[in-house]
Amino acid sequence: MASMDNVCDITIFGGHGDLAFRKLMPALYHLSNDGYLSFSSRIITVARNDITNDEHIELVRSKLIEFIGESVFNQEKFERFKSQLHVVTIDFDDEKSYKGLKELLGAFPSRERVNYLSTAPDFFATICKMLKNWDLVTDVSRVVLEKPIGRDLESSRAINSEVLKYFEEKQIYRIDHYLGKDTVQNIMALRFSNRIFMPLWDANNIDHVQITVAESVGVEGRWGYYDQYGAMRDMIQNHLMQLLCLIAMEPPCSLDADSVRDEKVKVLRSLRPMSAADIERKTVRAQYAKGSIDGQPVPGYREGEGMEHSNTETFAALRVDIDNWRWNGVPFYLRSGKRMHQRNSEIVIQFKSVPHSIFANQGSGISQNKLVISLQPKESIQLKLMNKVPGLSDQMRLQQVDLELNSRINSTRKSDAYERLLLDVIRSNPTLFMRLDEVEAAWKWADVILAGWAENIIPMKSYQAGTDGPSASIQLVVQDGVSWNDE
Ligand code: NAD
Repeated sequence: MASMDNVCDITIFGGHGDLAFRKLMPALYHLSNDGYLSFSSRIITVARNDITNDEHIELVRSKLIEFIGESVFNQEKFERFKSQLHVVTIDFDDEKSYKGLKELLGAFPSRERVNYLSTAPDFFATICKMLKNWDLVTDVSRVVLEKPIGRDLESSRAINSEVLKYFEEKQIYRIDHYLGKDTVQNIMALRFSNRIFMPLWDANNIDHVQITVAESVGVEGRWGYYDQYGAMRDMIQNHLMQLLCLIAMEPPCSLDADSVRDEKVKVLRSLRPMSAADIERKTVRAQYAKGSIDGQPVPGYREGEGMEHSNTETFAALRVDIDNWRWNGVPFYLRSGKRMHQRNSEIVIQFKSVPHSIFANQGSGISQNKLVISLQPKESIQLKLMNKVPGLSDQMRLQQVDLELNSRINSTRKSDAYERLLLDVIRSNPTLFMRLDEVEAAWKWADVILAGWAENIIPMKSYQAGTDGPSASIQLVVQDGVSWNDE
């Protein structure tokens, strides 16, 4: 049991939405049961429609069972948890409707407050303004912003500058749930607590890096949202860029939030901007056509609701270059897509070949060492090494073996990324959240590519649902003598 010193009031705007029920409430249920959130803390759901507290509690109960599973749900623990649950009805645009929230929060005026905006970004400014008008923003208030924060640098700046009218930068927690995953945090542990990697982590020893986030699901009914964003804005600009930063950053001087974020932002500022010729050679965009996944037929993207003329990419692949001493000449290949043949997120660090092979005439080649960090569906870290095939033989035969670096990862109940991130907000630790300059640097770099795509510098390719993307994605790496880690 953790210490129960974290007393705060957590208000979830959009509290009856998909994210709130699927991720936030289960995370808070576990935090509370595991002793990371004091029982005196309140979880205040902002609902759009009138609902009594009892009805709300019953709704939370049924959604918890749905999303954490009947075997994990514990009625006894829920009996205690439910005393933390409150609901208020608010229409975000209607100032008067915030009165109930004022009364609830006003009962503990000096208590720490977390305002989680689990809403479309169009509401961020309005909600923050209303909180300010009702005098509900204090020095110990925080605001959590869900993605997407804009669809380019300009719109992101507009949203952030509105929120900054009401909250200071240090009170703003911009969430990227990938950073809450244990294995992602493990990248820092692996890099900065093991000396053996330190001298190898550079252009002298690393051939290239691959970052893949593949989903087998499609848009899941969120056509209106997805079609405005696409793979580049929805995944590459934020999640994949954050992963790239963790692999490429210099060692920070401490784990303190700004030290870590200072190093990440330096990477983002070192990304080589793409010229029109680079966009043509180093980027691929594609949309899925009909196909099949797990033996089930899947319609194409343009067969979705109102999508007949859509020009939004559901897949993107890029070669990214980082212009600094450490990474000069080391390509980072990024790709992300929907309706791919399987759900798979991984980072592959491919080391260079040995300078000279003494095994060349022994009948087996030497595969380059790889460090494979798998994020989903399974979380694991494997180091692929060469080893002698055991036993007697005329020749010294070699095989590649996997060194599992943390087989214990899957042995305990895995806390969800949102548990980690919510706990950090409760404890006022912004290390795993994006600072304004990080968001802007990532948009600045991505905007150039998006503008090139908007001018049709490269055509939109097509790929069959249930595959690893278009052939152009294979070509992107093959032209550099590389292949994707799709074995
Ligand atoms: P959602 O549409 O399911 O939920 C939004 C909630 O806000 C709904 O309950 C709706 O009733 C409420 N709402 C809308 N307008 C309102 C108003 N004027 N007054 C009061 N309430 C109002 O959306 P979601 O999927 O939960 O996503 C929320 C945010 O999180 C979005 O920005 C989304 O992009 C982001 N996000 C969602 C997911 C996910 O898995 N669902 C993942 C990452 C990011």
